[in-house]
Amino acid sequence: MDWEVSVLGFGVRRLPRLGNNPLEIDEAESIGILRYAIDHGVNYLDLGCPYDLKQQERLTTVVYLALGDGYRAKIRLAASLPSLLIKSSADFDGYLNQQLKWLKSDSIDFFLLGWLNHESWPRLKELGVLGWAEGAMADGRIGRLGFSLHDHFQVLRGILNDYDSWTLAQFQYSYMDANYLPGVSGLKYASDKGLAVVAAEPLRGGRLTKEPPPSVAKVWATAPRKHSLAEWGLRWVWNHPEVATAVSDMSAMEQLKKNVALADNAQADSLTVADEVLISRARDAYRKLRPIPCTACRGCMPCPQGIDVPRLFELYNDAIMYGDMETARAIYQLEKHDINSCNQCGLCVCGREIPILDWLKELSGAWAKE
Ligand code: SF4
Ligand code: SF4
Repeated sequence: MDWEVSVLGFGVRRLPRLGNNPLEIDEAESIGILRYAIDHGVNYLDLGCPYDLKQQERLTTVVYLALGDGYRAKIRLAASLPSLLIKSSADFDGYLNQQLKWLKSDSIDFFLLGWLNHESWPRLKELGVLGWAEGAMADGRIGRLGFSLHDHFQVLRGILNDYDSWTLAQFQYSYMDANYLPGVSGLKYASDKGLAVVAAEPLRGGRLTKEPPPSVAKVWATAPRKHSLAEWGLRWVWNHPEVATAVSDMSAMEQLKKNVALADNAQADSLTVADEVLISRARDAYRKLRPIPCTACRGCMPCPQGIDVPRLFELYNDAIMYGDMETARAIYQLEKHDINSCNQCGLCVCGREIPILDWLKELSGAWAKE
């Protein structure tokens, strides 16, 4: 890329709210947080995926306000296409133009085809997304094209083989994701191909910094160095020289200040073998808490009712592992899942003999009826 990206990026999804209503963003506090971040070197701002247009409009409007007074020129902005909500090729322009309108701008620095996986990518390709994106880059609305991925390494390889002008690849990457969707092999592959890799959710949306469950706390208690949980998590991500930036969704000034201070000392290849072993033991302790042994192989997909079984199992496993059903429920609603549309046709068979229907009933009890 022709500019240097800060090791810490800012995701705006969790900007502070005034109460429990996700639409009531604390404007003054949010603007203060965003400007503090930029003043302290953060130069990559991710607007997230517009699953919920009302919420996205509020967030984007606050970002627009924060970027007045010359702040816009100091950062690069990334917006996304909500691939799972695309119904026709007309939606490509619809989502891009809508976001530009909220930003009162003619262009966005980066546009990511969001949430690509081995079902959404072929569908978008068939709808002509690459030709459309080339057009939007030619007419100046998109600066550079990227994608975010939620699938295995093979899917990443296919996406990179299908097009050779990607600039950014983004995927969830924390120490919990070392071998997962697409894991460290995906990170190295994308970087080798010349893409800037954006590590999303480096602290799993703050869940890795919460009071850990007893089995995990026991592992951290053996740490030879007394770092905070945020420091262990971020240092693990920044230890990979292939990571261009780690985008953290930050919601409070105190948290931002700590992360900015950590970013100042971020260094690739700085973890010792003992550090790596410790972190892998913490990962194993977390993973032992997962109730559903789903590998996200997607062998049970597609579902004629559009239910994303592996994603639902991932949300539920995370909820149990991190003791945080609330976040899982919020993501379930934000991503517009609907377990109750399952008609029990039985087409989703699992090679690992996971009783999918039984688990869906359990999940429905946990989220869908509330
Ligand atoms: S439920 Fe089974 S088949 Fe479906 S993704 Fe998980 S492991 Fe694969
Ligand atoms: S049983 Fe439900 S989740 Fe499974 S394929 Fe049928 S509708 Fe989809």
